Amino acid sequence: MASKTGIDQLRAIEEQFERDRACVVDLRSLEDIRTRYLSRKSGLITTQLQNLRELPSSERAEFGRVGNELKTRIEAAIETLQTTIAEQEKLSTLERERLDITLPGNRRRIGHHHPLTIVRNEIEEIFVSMGYTVEDGPEVENTYYNFEALNIPAGHPARDPKDTFYISDDLVLRTHTSPVQVRTMEKVQPPVRIICPGKVFRRDAADATHSPMFHQVEGLLVDEGITFSDLKGTLERFHREFFGKGTKTRLRPSFFPFTEPSAEVDVSCVFCGAAGCRICKNTGWIEVMGSGMVHPNLYSFVKYDPEKYTGFAFGGGIERYTMLKYNISDIQSFFQNDMRFLEQF
Ligand SMILES: [Zn+2]
Repeated sequence: MASKTGIDQLRAIEEQFERDRACVVDLRSLEDIRTRYLSRKSGLITTQLQNLRELPSSERAEFGRVGNELKTRIEAAIETLQTTIAEQEKLSTLERERLDITLPGNRRRIGHHHPLTIVRNEIEEIFVSMGYTVEDGPEVENTYYNFEALNIPAGHPARDPKDTFYISDDLVLRTHTSPVQVRTMEKVQPPVRIICPGKVFRRDAADATHSPMFHQVEGLLVDEGITFSDLKGTLERFHREFFGKGTKTRLRPSFFPFTEPSAEVDVSCVFCGAAGCRICKNTGWIEVMGSGMVHPNLYSFVKYDPEKYTGFAFGGGIERYTMLKYNISDIQSFFQNDMRFLEQF
């Protein structure tokens, strides 16, 4: 009877296992029934087989055979379940993480250059093609370079604190890019052929044509035998390249401390083709630059021989050139960061 009971217990365990395995939903619950039936110390099958020794020897063989068969079936069933569940979990992970490559992506907004940068680059390219190099210098400048060495001595009205941002008695936010010319001439002997674009600062109230910070580009050429007609030819070529082939350049006598003789530079009106319009005030001409032959006094500051070398210099506002090129009427547009304005370039 003991053997009958033993075998019956095995059958009961088997039935219990069938019910349990129907409830397995994941690897964790599978692990639970593995422990419950097969654990070395307390597994239901393991403990049954450990009882083998207590049975009469005539019954041990059959009980052992049935018990081991059951153990093998349970092991195999658990193994199969494990594979199936692992496969399902992998599939559901893939499904959860599936990418729909047909969905439209997030549009990446691509930036572009500010109109002042576009024009500055264009001006640089034109002069580089004529053999000039581009020079840079400090925006906080010593008064020596901003004034003295440019023939603007102490007491000169151009040094008035009403017009200039003074950091201290001898430091200013540079009022023009001309100091870069002096710094370059200190470093190299002629021939010198440079342009210096960059920020400059003046104590002007902001309005449609003024800004306390704006950009200039200056040019300087010093060599033997340079004349006023070289200046005119250079500016004519630059303006034809920049504004278009039909553009004319005109020089009018003027005065600057650092050039002698000096000239204002006009271009034929880009809006009316010199026929006369509101923007050129019916003159057909628009002022764009100041220029002149380098004042011989400047050469003494940089130890150039004024008997040997002559040169010319010119300078204009990058905002001015940009406004003329793109027909922009308010200089403040450049600094307001209004996307509707900036996206047009
Ligand atoms: Zn005009």
